[in-house]
Order: sequence, then structure tokens, then C-alpha cells
Amino acid sequence: MAMLFNYHTHSEFCDAKVSAATLVEEAYRKGYRYLGFSSHAPLPFPSTWLMSWDELHPYAATIRALQRDWSDRGLKIFLGLEIDYIQGIVKPGDQAYQAINPDFRLGSVHFLQGLSEDEFTVDEPADLFERHMSQAPRGDASIIWKQYYQNMMGLVEAGGFDILCHFDLVKKNNSGGRWFDEESPAYLDAAFSVVDRAAELDIVAEINTGGLARGSTNSPYPSPSILRRMREVGLRLTIGDDAHSPEHLGNYRKAAVEAARAAGYTSFWYLDDVLSWKEIGLDESIK
Ligand SMILES: [Zn+2]
Ligand SMILES: [Zn+2]
Repeated sequence: MAMLFNYHTHSEFCDAKVSAATLVEEAYRKGYRYLGFSSHAPLPFPSTWLMSWDELHPYAATIRALQRDWSDRGLKIFLGLEIDYIQGIVKPGDQAYQAINPDFRLGSVHFLQGLSEDEFTVDEPADLFERHMSQAPRGDASIIWKQYYQNMMGLVEAGGFDILCHFDLVKKNNSGGRWFDEESPAYLDAAFSVVDRAAELDIVAEINTGGLARGSTNSPYPSPSILRRMREVGLRLTIGDDAHSPEHLGNYRKAAVEAARAAGYTSFWYLDDVLSWKEIGLDESIK
């Protein structure tokens, strides 16, 4: 029996334009069983794409109300947060987020540190990324992925989250290998060391179709080479739509299933009614 689940959903509380209620209706229409909201959590500093601290409680109240309203219609809604790891500044397990008692937490790395005067994120708009890269130490873009995977390792070691998000987001602005070679031994070594540690810690990672949905990548995160390594070391996967609009919900799951299958996976994992991980065959996780 097909069963749709996704715990990576943004709304007008952070960087999406759509209301949470509209997303719930779309998820219901598409036959979702589990829908998790994961607004970008407030951090110790403000940014345009993050929720503010003032919005934290209204966000929680909105999602909890939807959770109640839909509970008897076969759609289970969860309140979550996507929380950044920034070394020495913030991590998903920080006590501040307990204020809304979230059902689950996503762990992500977006920020790079010390490479620019202003905010520098790996998934920022291409023109901004290009400007930041032009200021980077001459000719060596490897600083980007080196620091990114260092932060990913820090995130994995710090723990305090339920799903490890968009594993190689650092490739978002690297289409065509413009800045660095995603298949070079050094790059893959850095990525694989995080994969191996995450598997040791029995973390669940996400196959994320957000880049596909928004046209910035032509395959899900992570890339085939990284997925194969994940499979080899037994890292468990879930699907993350990383939805920022209704049409992102579910429309790219086939690509996630195909990528997982190509890497040798036969199943995904989902969080059930009591937020415990359950296994499901690849084909059952799409419609
Ligand atoms: Zn993210
Ligand atoms: Zn996200």
C-alpha cells in the first residue's frame, strides 16, 4: 500500500510564500499520511529567510491547530524545525528550541563562516554566491566544500536532530563543476568521512528533492557517488520534499526513489504516529 510521508516543509513563517493550511490541503489531496513542518529556526542573529524569535510561538500554535483539525482525517501533521549548525554559535539540540516542544528537528548546514563580511550561505542566489566566491582566497574554491563538510561533521557529532538534511547542499551553486570537482578524491573523502560517521551514529539522512523542484540541480541531494557510499555503510534514508510551494509536495519523489534504487537501496524510513522510525519499500513510498 502506498504511503506518502515528508518532514521537510516550509511556509510563510520563513522563506516560502504559502500558508501552512494551503500546504496541508495539498498534502491531503495528494494522499499524504505524514506531513512535518520544518520552518527555518531562528538563530542568534536575524536573516531574511529565517523565522524570527517572535514568530516561534505563533508558528507552533498554527501547526498545532492544524494537527488537531486534521487528526481524524488520516493526515498526521508534525511540528518541527530546520535548525542550522554553526560551529560555536548554534546547533539543533540547543535548549532554546525546546520552548515550543517540537515533535522533530532537522539538522542542516547552510552557513559558511569567516569567508565574507556579510552572510554567506552555500545555497544563496547564484549572483550573490559568485560575488562571495570572487572574494575567496585566490583560485582555491576548495575552501567552500572543506568548510562545509567540516561543519557537517560538527553537526553529526553534535547530534540533537532527527534527520540529516540535504547532505551535499554545497553543490547547489556548482552546476557543471563550475567551482570544484564533485568527483575528485579529496572532495569525496571529505563527504565520505561524514557519511561513515553518520552511519556509525545510526543517523537517518534525507534524500532531498528541493534542488530538483526549484530547478537548481538535476538530481536529488546527495549525488550518486555519495548515495552509493551511504548504501555501503548502511546509512538509513528518508525522503525530504523540502517543499516551499504546494507543487513541490510529492512531485519529485519518483526521482528520489530512482536515485536510491540506483545506489542499491531497497527501502526508506519514515516517522510513524508516535515518531518512531519505520521501514518501507521504495515503491510504497510513492503513489
Ligand atoms: Zn535547508
Ligand atoms: Zn529546508
